[in-house]
Amino acid sequence: MLGDRAVGADRGPLDDAVEQLAEACDLLGYDEGTFQMLAAPRREVTVSIPLRRDDGSIEVLTGHRVQHNLSRGPAKGGLRYSPHVDLDEVRALAMWMTWKCALMELPYGGAKGGVTIDPSRYSRAELERVTRRYTAEILPVIGPTRDIPAPDIGTDEHTMAWMMDTYSVANGHTVLGTVTGKPVSLGGSLGRAAATSQGVVHVAVAALRHQGIDPGGATAAVQGFGKVGRGAARFLAAGGVSVLAASDEHGAVWSPDGLDVPALEDHVDRVGTVVGFPGATVIDNEALLTLDVDLLVPAAVECVLHGGNAAAVQARLVVEGANGPTTTEADRILQARGVLIVPDILANAGGVVVSYFEWVQANQAYWWTEAEVEERLAVRMTTAWDQVQTESRERGLPLRAAATCLAVRRVAEAHQQRGLYP
Ligand code: GLU
Repeated sequence: MLGDRAVGADRGPLDDAVEQLAEACDLLGYDEGTFQMLAAPRREVTVSIPLRRDDGSIEVLTGHRVQHNLSRGPAKGGLRYSPHVDLDEVRALAMWMTWKCALMELPYGGAKGGVTIDPSRYSRAELERVTRRYTAEILPVIGPTRDIPAPDIGTDEHTMAWMMDTYSVANGHTVLGTVTGKPVSLGGSLGRAAATSQGVVHVAVAALRHQGIDPGGATAAVQGFGKVGRGAARFLAAGGVSVLAASDEHGAVWSPDGLDVPALEDHVDRVGTVVGFPGATVIDNEALLTLDVDLLVPAAVECVLHGGNAAAVQARLVVEGANGPTTTEADRILQARGVLIVPDILANAGGVVVSYFEWVQANQAYWWTEAEVEERLAVRMTTAWDQVQTESRERGLPLRAAATCLAVRRVAEAHQQRGLYP
């Protein structure tokens, strides 16, 4: 296979991302040079972020911004604050953003940013200082025509407001298209906050129907109760799916009759975790992944489905709310067992789709209604689902390979049409 990488115990998301690209390039008949060009990030920036803590001491953090591809337009992708951030993770996430944007026919390349920090250990004022300094350090490579950040794990609309403000102050005027996922009062789009979860549920419902399962009688487990998982649980339940289990970093809860999701959301708002939700049984986070349900939505971090647990997964369908939750090894095991996997670059693309809508609205200074946003999101999600289905049927490929092939082909075509400079 193209781009063979060493197989070792310390494999990470970048190994999975590169392998997926290599497989797609093989299937598309591309040569090694094309693979190398598509695999290599166009630009990587690593910066030090000296932070003055509230107690007056100084701590130096590290941040990255990786622009994986710029062929189809400015780079696009989130900014992650997590203690697990490292350059290889950011590279993998940036590559997946390239394929996600191409798959959804958005005029963007792919990027990702990350700061190695546990945001729960820092005050809001400290996080503002980290964000402003990080933004100032990467200022030359971002902007509405260069690279447009958005929220991801550990960041939110406040982070985006600080980034937009820092960029705007440096440029001497307000530039609303600098970032997406901003507060609505500051040029954000209606419907952006719920968009990733809504998109997950649009494709989950389509996939359930495709498997001959009536969503009204289906059962689900949702791993992760953050921005993506929480909304996914809410929209699944609203659509009649019985959500039997949900988890967060503190633990998992399960009820054979289905969780009352609005009540669970109230509980989480009060207590800060799903654990302790009245009437539900506390189970292991690992046990949630292997519950007997129709639909499993991993909606937290990378590599949660791996060689060690994939054989025990009982769900008929996995819809990837997170980026990269299934390792290549788990992918093969699940496929061999007939589990349908709707890949991340399709399943969780609703977020970047509405980010694109937000950027379009900000650039035109004309805002759409929530109904318009939701309707256009639904059209984008179902169109991409149909295209991936067709590619999968025509080439006899699993959905991930089909989606990656579609996306990689679009990016490679843009490369070819632009030509190599000089
Ligand atoms: N962080 C989200 C993702 O991984 C959204 C990115 C964006 O809106 O640019 O897709």
